[in-house]
Amino acid sequence: MKKIIIAIDGFSSCGKSTMAKDLAKEIGYIYIDSGAMYRAVTLYCLNHQLVNADGSIRETELQQQMKDIHISFRLNPETQRPVTFLNGANVEEQIRTIEVSSHVSPVAALGFVRQAMMEQQQKMGEEKGIVMDGRDIGTAVFPDAELKIFVTASPEIRAQRRYDELKAKGQSVSFDEILKNVEERDRIDQSRAISPLRKADDALLLDNSHMTIAEQKEWLKEQFNKATHE
Ligand code: C5P
Repeated sequence: MKKIIIAIDGFSSCGKSTMAKDLAKEIGYIYIDSGAMYRAVTLYCLNHQLVNADGSIRETELQQQMKDIHISFRLNPETQRPVTFLNGANVEEQIRTIEVSSHVSPVAALGFVRQAMMEQQQKMGEEKGIVMDGRDIGTAVFPDAELKIFVTASPEIRAQRRYDELKAKGQSVSFDEILKNVEERDRIDQSRAISPLRKADDALLLDNSHMTIAEQKEWLKEQFNKATHE
């Protein structure tokens, strides 16, 4: 069967990565979490004093240091899930904190950061056979992807999902803080000048507000079967 590129874009915390990971595992494709790459750059900024007190980024310094930021993914042999590495260190847990979440959108709005990430992402897709999730995969990174999905759900439902996820990991968080973060990230992601979050014209829309994970999985598999048999 021919290998394709599957682009899954959408709002934050709408379950894109769960769908994408599950599908990739089932069909034997490589899963790439493009958001993790922006999160890793953000973690680098936080660890290297590149974030000002008002949340703005020290752009000139970051631009100079981009060459020192190396992001890669390695498969955890136990879970068979990819783990994010930043300059050789496993940062999978650290990039999921609320601190990183609340600084990532301004970092991801910077043109030179996007350019660097996009080049790496396109390289990862050279052989096809990948499922990549993010905000601009179907519009900017792989505009010719054979299957594009755009996922959405209400902000309250998305905040609740993220809240449950962080709580389960033992992080102490407030629901209101998460809802505010989800809404603020939507706003910045949709309004930025470069590669804003939007549905590609040829993407299939999936509102999963009232769907179970199993239902989404089935729907996505169906779309994959259609796309590979066309
Ligand atoms: O997907 P996730 O919520 O982990 O992504 C974190 C942030 O990275 C998003 O809020 C967005 O600002 C940015 N992002 C992006 N383009 C992508 C993936 C993520 O701008 N392709």
